[in-house]
Amino acid sequence: MQYENTLDFAQDLDRNDPLHQYRAQFIFPQHSGRDVLYFCGNSLGLQPKTIRKALLDELDQWAEHGVEGHFRGELPWMYYHKFLTPQAARLVGALPHEVVIMNTLTVNLHLMMVSFYRPDAQRYKIIMEAGAFPSDQYAVESQVRWHGFDPADAIVEVTPRPGEDTLRTEDILEIIEKEGPKAALVMFGGVNYYTGQLYDMERIAAAAHRVGAYAGFDLAHAAGNAPLRLHDWNADFAVWCSYKYLNSGPGGPAGAFVHERHGDNPALPRFAGWWGHDEGERFQMKKGFKPMRGAEGWQLSNAQIFSFAAHKASLDIFDTAGMAHLRTKSLQLTGFLEYVLDEVNRRKNLFRIITPRDPGARGCQISALTDDRGKSLFDFLANNGAIADWREPNVIRFAPVPLYNTFEDVWRLGDLMLRYGA
Ligand SMILES: *Cc1c(COP(=O)(O)O)cnc(C)c1O
Repeated sequence: MQYENTLDFAQDLDRNDPLHQYRAQFIFPQHSGRDVLYFCGNSLGLQPKTIRKALLDELDQWAEHGVEGHFRGELPWMYYHKFLTPQAARLVGALPHEVVIMNTLTVNLHLMMVSFYRPDAQRYKIIMEAGAFPSDQYAVESQVRWHGFDPADAIVEVTPRPGEDTLRTEDILEIIEKEGPKAALVMFGGVNYYTGQLYDMERIAAAAHRVGAYAGFDLAHAAGNAPLRLHDWNADFAVWCSYKYLNSGPGGPAGAFVHERHGDNPALPRFAGWWGHDEGERFQMKKGFKPMRGAEGWQLSNAQIFSFAAHKASLDIFDTAGMAHLRTKSLQLTGFLEYVLDEVNRRKNLFRIITPRDPGARGCQISALTDDRGKSLFDFLANNGAIADWREPNVIRFAPVPLYNTFEDVWRLGDLMLRYGA
């Protein structure tokens, strides 16, 4: 598409945007009497208006039924996680029995590693992207130590080539190949939180399997952002959170995917809890853990109903909009942001874009590496009603979210930046 950095052009794209009506389903923080320019959906998505009612419904259910709420009403709590499964499965390209909503992201990452990182003296290495989100680094490091290995030896990080900002798929594949028989697990993000790079999960999983390793993905920045086909890609496991692109509110529940070839293997070691136990017998309170089929067999606890209710309301929106439509708009909107930022930069020279230029290798995030004026630029934007995301040491991340951001938002952001330091 040939872009133009004008308000008319942006408004024209908005008028022709088939998803334009979704913006009205979200609540925007206000700045000087108007909606902020919100580019932070990769950190905390905006609140869908439907969530308030969803929460109130559960409060009513509790008020009316007390403990009987587990079995009564339209959405009995006993089965609550199941009411989220079909939408979540479609979102990540999985079969319903491969997906469960439970816990929080880092907890799920640990649970998955309990099952899929079982090192021995020969095969004990974990291959991951350098600069992964800190929680993932800590989780991996602590798992390695827990098994008695030295992180310096057991964790192999793939780094960009000198002078480059992102990873080349061929380099990732080559390192997996090279570690070969020592590789126990290949653990990658779907989209790197810092650079916005979207990894080729299908090829990474295939390379891992060729050398006999498992392949797991952290989709925190990919779920609700990039089209995913976890089942077809043959991922062994994946985890994601719901409060970033999935708009389910701070601390919202997380998801887990376990490929069906593992989900039906009750012998696979795992940390167990009563909610993962065969539901037909769950309340018989018997000895001897018998996991449910599929990803549900990894559950520990009964569902946190309020945060699940919020998540359900939000997933319903994704399901209606459809990930394919969202991706189509996302490519245009992100491309427009890239164009506008380049225009700004031509005149102001404020930053360097480190997100891949190839639209197929990114989601809806553009990361701008700034110089020592970065924080002042970021503060200028915030003081003028544009919310982006600052990451130390000096990156500003902008996420134009296809569900609720407009082309006009993007144009306004650029217009504001042109006034920085003027
Ligand atoms: C946001 C994010 C987290 C946060 O973990 P929580 O357990 O939800 O607090 C972890 N990993 C990645 C890759 C993230 O982007």
